[in-house]
Amino acid sequence: MPKDTLHREVVIVGSGPAGLTAAIYAARAGMNPLVIEGPQPGGQLTITTEVDNYPGFAEGIQGPELMDQFRKQAERFGTEFLTAWIDTVDLSERPFTLHTEEHEIKAETLIVASGASAKWLGIPGEEPAPKGLGGLGVSACATCDGFFFKGKKIIVVGGGDTAMEEATFLTRYASRVTVVHRRDHLRASKIMQDKAFKNEKIDFKWNSEVIEIIGEPETGVVGVRLRETETGEESIFDCEGVFIAIGHQPNTGMFKGVLDMDEVGYIKTSGRSMATNVPGVFACGDAQDSSYRQAITAAGTGCMAAIDAERFLDNLPVPAPTGEEITIEGERVSADHETITMPGGETISNHPEADAEGAQASGDWHKPSQPRRGAIE
Ligand code: NDP
Repeated sequence: MPKDTLHREVVIVGSGPAGLTAAIYAARAGMNPLVIEGPQPGGQLTITTEVDNYPGFAEGIQGPELMDQFRKQAERFGTEFLTAWIDTVDLSERPFTLHTEEHEIKAETLIVASGASAKWLGIPGEEPAPKGLGGLGVSACATCDGFFFKGKKIIVVGGGDTAMEEATFLTRYASRVTVVHRRDHLRASKIMQDKAFKNEKIDFKWNSEVIEIIGEPETGVVGVRLRETETGEESIFDCEGVFIAIGHQPNTGMFKGVLDMDEVGYIKTSGRSMATNVPGVFACGDAQDSSYRQAITAAGTGCMAAIDAERFLDNLPVPAPTGEEITIEGERVSADHETITMPGGETISNHPEADAEGAQASGDWHKPSQPRRGAIE
């Protein structure tokens, strides 16, 4: 069956705080953005509880409610949404092409806001059932699955803010929550640590790694095998649930080999913009930020990516990770602003007086194209 073809000025992959903020800005700038939502519409905040650090909500707000507000705001200015899984992308020429099962999507500019997903330990018993006990007592989302652990004894693996948040949340249901951490002190922020230390239902197993999850499909999880990191001594710890909370992996696999990334998979962007190494492709949020990873920073970079996309479509130069500035016509201004390399490969001086001399000699000189649209208000 032939696929439907969609052609848009701005296509945004991802619908978390970064993607939806990019959509709000792009929609308000009249760029009619299309947001492609994957398997977790709204992103990671939809599986969290109270968000106390997003400015503007003095009393805090529930994560799903916050994302609902983002979405409605993006919709108010005409953002289109498509729920689809992207199979392949072709960024070799503009418009870029994204293939889903039912659509071929052409994008004049692309904003990658695909976020990050929970990391797993990669140990026996962890895989989804029927191969392992995933879904039968093993989870990476307390908000999604906590309800199933009423009155049960569970463990949370990890020592960061996510682990503390999950452990604290799970005490609503579980009879006992043991945090298993591979070191003797936590990485989590002090406020989150204090909250967990004060909770009588939470205890800690320090310097311990989970090396196997034990159970059968009929019984679900019945325990874990632990290894003491200092002595190497192994022991069995009885529990009925295991929550893995050891951080996240950026969802950037579909761009591997095309967009420049660090060794973990975070997309590299220019220091002064959200531009990637492919002119016209911008990245924002947890797909490119390995350092801050907050809803507010994701939203901030989403805003930047939309402004960059608009500048690019207006033929204004956008800084690239190399330090060069690149226009929609493919003109590259060198990092020191001394030269401009034209799409055909010709390099000209960026000094008007030098250009004037060159123009006299050749009878021709470079005139930048007119901007196609107005600036964002
Ligand atoms: P972090 O990277 O901060 O922490 C991951 C934790 O898991 C670390 O304690 C780490 O151990 C441990 N870990 C990693 N890999 C393994 C492994 N293979 N085996 C055992 N343990 C492992 O990730 P988080 O998801 O906790 O937090 C990410 C960001 O999100 C942070 O900036 C955090 O502040 C933020 N956040 C904020 C929240 C809030 O404000 N409400 C809630 C949740 C997250 P080690 O310490 O030894 O490296």
